Amino acid sequence: MQLSPIVASMSESATLLMARRSRELRAAGHDIIDLSLGEPDHAPPAFALEAAHAAIDGPWHKYPPVNGYLDLREAISHKFERDNGLRYAPDQIVVSTGAKQAIMNVIMSLVAPGDEVVIPAPYWVSYAEQVKLVGGVPVIVKSTIEEDWKPPVERIAAAITPRTRLLIFSSPCNPSGSVLTRTEHEQLAEVVARHPDLYVIADEIYEHIVFDGAHFSFGTLPGMAERTITVNGISKAFALTGWRIGYIGAPQWIAQAANKVQGQFTSGANSIAQRVAKACVEADPAQLTGMRDDFRRRRDLVVKAMAGIPGWKCNVPQGAFYLLPDVSASVRGPITDVVDLSLYLLDKAGVSLVEGRSFGAETTLRISYATSDDKLTEAMRRVAKAIAELP
Ligand code: PMP
Repeated sequence: MQLSPIVASMSESATLLMARRSRELRAAGHDIIDLSLGEPDHAPPAFALEAAHAAIDGPWHKYPPVNGYLDLREAISHKFERDNGLRYAPDQIVVSTGAKQAIMNVIMSLVAPGDEVVIPAPYWVSYAEQVKLVGGVPVIVKSTIEEDWKPPVERIAAAITPRTRLLIFSSPCNPSGSVLTRTEHEQLAEVVARHPDLYVIADEIYEHIVFDGAHFSFGTLPGMAERTITVNGISKAFALTGWRIGYIGAPQWIAQAANKVQGQFTSGANSIAQRVAKACVEADPAQLTGMRDDFRRRRDLVVKAMAGIPGWKCNVPQGAFYLLPDVSASVRGPITDVVDLSLYLLDKAGVSLVEGRSFGAETTLRISYATSDDKLTEAMRRVAKAIAELP
C-alpha cells in the first residue's frame, strides 16, 4: 500500500477532524458543545428553499455548462457590481462546488511545482494544503494578536521572491475574524503592483459579516482587476454550506483555465444548487443584517466571557464569526501544545475548539461563535472552569 508522496504529506483538515471527534463523543452519550465548525447556525432563507423546490420541478436535471448556467453568471456579474463595485463579465465568472473548489481551480491554473504562494497567517487551513497538492510551496507570513492578526505589509513584501506566483488572503479572515482596512488593502496593492507576475486571490466569502464599516474588495483598486481573483459563495451569507456553491470573478484567461480544470474534475457544479445560488445572489443583501447583528452580539458575549479566563489574550475582531485567543498561558505542565489543550477541553469541558497550529497560529485556539447565545455562555463557563483546574 503506497500513497503518492503529495497525498501522503497532506494534513487532514483540523476543523473536520475536531468535528468528527465531537460527533463520536456525542454518539457515545457525552454532552458536547461544538464550537469548531465554520458554519452559520441560522436557517437558510425561505426564498432559497423555494428556489430549490422550483428547480426540482423544472428542466434542471442534465449536465450544466462547466462554468455555470449563463443566467447565474449574469446574476453574479450583477452582484459583483452591486455589492462590491467589481466588474466581471459573465465569461470571467466560474461557478464551482463550493469556494473551496473555486480556489483549488485557480491554484491548479497558476501554480507550477516549486512556485511559491505567499499566505499571511493566520490563514484558512485549505490554502496551504491546496498549494502543496500541486507541488507549490506555501510561504507563511506570521503575525501576532498584538498586530490584530494582520501581518504588516512590509513583512508580506519581504516574503515575495521571483518565484512567487500568488498571494492568498481572506478579509474578513477565517480564523481570526480580522478585517483589512481600506488603507491596508491599498498598501498591499502597492506591493502587488511592483511584481508584474504576482496574482492575488481575495477570498471574500465573509463579506456580509462585517461589524463596523463596509466590506472592501481588493479588485477595485487601480490596476488590481487584472491581478485579482475574487472568491465568494453562498455558504456563509445564506447559511447554505451543504449546497456547495462558490464562484470566482477573474481575468478572462484565468477564468478559462479554471473552467478547463473544472471540466476534468466535476464537469460543473450541481444544477439544482446553481438555481438556488441564483436566487441568493439576486436577493437584497439588506436581508442579511439580522444575521450580522446576531454575530456581533455573540462576539461581544464571548469576548466578555474570555476576559475572565486568566492568561488568555483576546482581540476584538471586526468580522466573520471566529475568535482566535492567544492561549499560550495555558500551555504548561502536561499540556505541551494547543493540540493537547484542545483535546483537554474536549474531554474535560465537553467543548470542541480547533487548535490554531494548522492555521499558522501555534499559540491559539479558534472559537467559532456561530451557535446560540445560551450554548456560548455555557461553553465559556465550562472552558473557564476547566482552565482554572489546569495543574
Ligand atoms: N474560504 C474561507 C475563508 C472559508 O472559511 C471557507 C469555509 N470554511 C471557504 C473558503 C470554503 O467555503 P465553501 O463552503 O464555499 O467551500
